[in-house]
Amino acid sequence: MDIRRLVKKEVASLRAYQAKETPCRVKLDANESPYGFAGALKAVEKISTNRYPDPEAKALKTVLAGSLGVKPQNLLQGNGSDELIYYLVATFGGPVLYPVPTFSMYGIISQALGEKKREVPLDRDFDIDIDRMMTVLKKEKPKIVFLSTPNNPTGNCFSSEKILKIIGESKGLVVVDEAYQPFSSEKGFVPLLRDHKNLVIMRTLSKIGLAALRFGFLIADEQIIDEVNKVRLPFNVNALSQAVAIEALKKKKALKEAIQIIADERDRMIVAMEDIKGVIPFPSEANFILFRVKDPHKVFSRLLEQGILVRNISDAVAGCLRVTIGTPKENGLFLRALEKTA
Ligand code: PMP
Repeated sequence: MDIRRLVKKEVASLRAYQAKETPCRVKLDANESPYGFAGALKAVEKISTNRYPDPEAKALKTVLAGSLGVKPQNLLQGNGSDELIYYLVATFGGPVLYPVPTFSMYGIISQALGEKKREVPLDRDFDIDIDRMMTVLKKEKPKIVFLSTPNNPTGNCFSSEKILKIIGESKGLVVVDEAYQPFSSEKGFVPLLRDHKNLVIMRTLSKIGLAALRFGFLIADEQIIDEVNKVRLPFNVNALSQAVAIEALKKKKALKEAIQIIADERDRMIVAMEDIKGVIPFPSEANFILFRVKDPHKVFSRLLEQGILVRNISDAVAGCLRVTIGTPKENGLFLRALEKTA
């Protein structure tokens, strides 16, 4: 039997998300934090393994709501924010609009669910091309606009005025994906939720040292949360992740310090990379740096030969690689290897 003939045409033409395990000495490819919270693992000892987890993740949402100044009813929990993108598209459908290059899952999920997607190229500074976005917004009336700010893989924040214009003009939802907001000098969109009912903010714990847990969350008007909650699978966030997240979030000082070290290292790395001949780093407000080289495939392989794994982004941004900020020692190893390579 030819299984491929049974597969929906939208899925048959998809390419699976590239998340493979490549052996390396220094792992700087996946925008993870180099700092974990091993101490928080002790929280799992209290878990009854025979019981389902709290289906509403009440305790965890209460902690998060408190720190964000919103109510727990304004939050929806996901098994990573990837799952929440899925739920949003499943709930509201398409067309789905987003600027490119950006996080690939907006497109993969829209296509997998058979929804129409519209991609508008960013301008030369990797900011939103507001005229083209407005044209598509008016013509296609997308149900959802996804805006990743800071944007993956470019690293910059989009202009707040342009985001606000899109929120104001959109007849559908605008999802501001703040996966990298903790590393940014901008304060983010949570304070604007009150005035914009179509605004949804997406956050994740993955970039701040807890990627293993798979926990992301939406922040939005209660009505939006209630609708998306209808498609959420029961018990989507497991008990171990809930318990460890609560414990880790108590370590406010350590979390803050780790974020600060990463942001400082990023700024130091950009300066150092600017001094390497043949390397053009782009400004970043995230925990990674996009950089251009003459031959990205060659530089990628040469770095890997020296045990350093970065991400080859040249399919999406011509000539570019993306490096995640690691510990100062890892970053030093990367810089030395890059000097020898580029
Ligand atoms: N949004 C953006 C912009 C991302 O870069 C990523 C992770 N690469 C995600 C969402 C997904 O994060 P999570 O681990 O919470 O699924």
